[in-house]
Amino acid sequence: MATISDNLQAVRNRIAAAARAAGRDPAAITLLAVSKTHPAARIVEAIEAGQRAFGENYVQEAVRKMDALGGSPAPATALEWHLIGPLQSNKTRVVAERFDWVQTIDRHKTAERLSAQRPLTRTPLNVLVQVNVSGEASKSGVEPQAALELAQAVARLPRLRLRGLMAIPEPTDDAALQRARFRLLRELLEAVQARGLAVDTLSMGMSDDMEAAIAEGATMVRIGTAIFGARERAQTAA
Ligand SMILES: *Cc1c(COP(=O)(O)O)cnc(C)c1O
Repeated sequence: MATISDNLQAVRNRIAAAARAAGRDPAAITLLAVSKTHPAARIVEAIEAGQRAFGENYVQEAVRKMDALGGSPAPATALEWHLIGPLQSNKTRVVAERFDWVQTIDRHKTAERLSAQRPLTRTPLNVLVQVNVSGEASKSGVEPQAALELAQAVARLPRLRLRGLMAIPEPTDDAALQRARFRLLRELLEAVQARGLAVDTLSMGMSDDMEAAIAEGATMVRIGTAIFGARERAQTAA
């Protein structure tokens, strides 16, 4: 059976091949390991194989793992924790205190709360605005035509650092459709940059569509299954 270390290496190779095919530098693409539903012991295996950035969907589950691994930021290993699941407003405080990034900002109110609750002892919280690039097929994320305005408002909040945009397009085997969804997000990032905001992150691409995302300019891919294996079905429900 392939180990997590083997899987990580295979994913790094896929990223490098996709980057080269697109004429891009593989080093410009960050690998976020999505560890939701997998126990801390599996995260330790990934850390030992050189992985530092982890994505979690559920706040309580993530905090349990952070505690098991020695807190966040863990001084010895300098782990980086990303919230990539929907954020309820009654959970913002612990997120502001414990996470390094929040990728799922789709309402100004949530961003305001995170900014107000980010401890002064920590650097500003890195955030991404999540955009619904799939229309009816998805319920999370701000509509594309409202993304620019939300990004500008979030960028003004003092304890947040707007880094860019994120999307979760609907799963599809249609390669052209995958590319079109990712292209839309890249064009939106370019529009944000054209307004003078110093954003650098395009978080898009998962186990099944990372090649299409990298071809369209992804700077961060969020990979779960290809690293940790399949998740239990019951646990994947939000
Ligand atoms: C679960 C999840 C991923 C990882 O998906 P895989 O298909 O397992 O690679 C990426 N991004 C988000 C937002 C997720 O919820």
